[in-house]
Amino acid sequence: MPFLYDTAYLIYVLPFMLLAMYAQYKVNSNYNYYAQIRNSNNMTGAQVARIILDRNNLQHVPVVKTSGVLSDHYDPRNKTISLSAGVYDNPSVSAASIAAHEVGHAIQHDKKYIPLKLRSAIAPAISFASNFVWIFIVIGFLISPIFVNIGIAIFIGVLLFQVVTLPVEFDASRRAIRELENGLISQDEKSGAKKVLQAAALTYIAATLVTVGQIARIFSLGGRRSNRN
Ligand SMILES: [Zn+2]
Repeated sequence: MPFLYDTAYLIYVLPFMLLAMYAQYKVNSNYNYYAQIRNSNNMTGAQVARIILDRNNLQHVPVVKTSGVLSDHYDPRNKTISLSAGVYDNPSVSAASIAAHEVGHAIQHDKKYIPLKLRSAIAPAISFASNFVWIFIVIGFLISPIFVNIGIAIFIGVLLFQVVTLPVEFDASRRAIRELENGLISQDEKSGAKKVLQAAALTYIAATLVTVGQIARIFSLGGRRSNRN
């Protein structure tokens, strides 16, 4: 596949790929740094999540421990918060921040926050179609532009999904900070909590830009191809 690393890749995609790698590095380094810093209330992520859930009348949402690192998530299908061991068991600033963020998603769900509903509605179709996006593009460049267009349509669907994800993630972090400020962390710890959550936000922005870059790149390759004809 000669066009996997073409000039258009270097121009449109690589810069955003580097940004995505930088964001991932910041997520890991901020998480690790603030995982060493104990929060002043000495509360684990599981305890922080429970308190915020209960005071938002979400007593029915369980908090469970899951495997992996930074695998924390809220699942709207079974209304469960899953926290990784590093968050669930540790009384750190990182743990409190991430636990509060996941509760932010549970609160969004409870309040029928529109971007979350939209995101959940399109997620299954997008995650299925995105498996085939490059197959369509490669076949398209070899055989017929129709398949390239299908590939671009899938990419635009992925982009839509990523764009809808941004307010969902930003809003969950805003809710997290507001809840943490309410007696769960000190003023000093707040800046650490923000850093942990902002690094995560940057990964979502970078992923969105990578998709924009991929679409631009495919258009540019298509344009050069038709110039030759
Ligand atoms: Zn989130």
